[in-house]
Amino acid sequence: MSNAPRTKKLNRMDFLEYSNAEDPSKPPVLVGKKPLKMGGKKLVEAGLEPTTPRQAIRLKCIDCMNGQPKEVRVCVSFDCVDWPHRMGKNAFQVEGKNEDV
Ligand code: SF4
Repeated sequence: MSNAPRTKKLNRMDFLEYSNAEDPSKPPVLVGKKPLKMGGKKLVEAGLEPTTPRQAIRLKCIDCMNGQPKEVRVCVSFDCVDWPHRMGKNAFQVEGKNEDV
């Protein structure tokens, strides 16, 4: 996992498709492809770096805090759905400790 800027330019049509599945009476519009349908090999070929969901949350939090991991550590937005996961671990699966983990 890396939070370095992506070096490969992504081609939007690798990730989008035309669909009118939501309303067949309307013309197709561009929508995001289903990542599970694309599969890992195509996602990597399209330029995405493989991440676990936890890593993705951590990276999103670092992005949210303008690239500053220290700011993620002290984030006060406890009502954000990512807040318990912002350190890249599942806090619901560990016993609380007094020291920083
Ligand atoms: S927990 Fe929410 S508000 Fe805090 S850094 Fe992560 S995404 Fe941003």
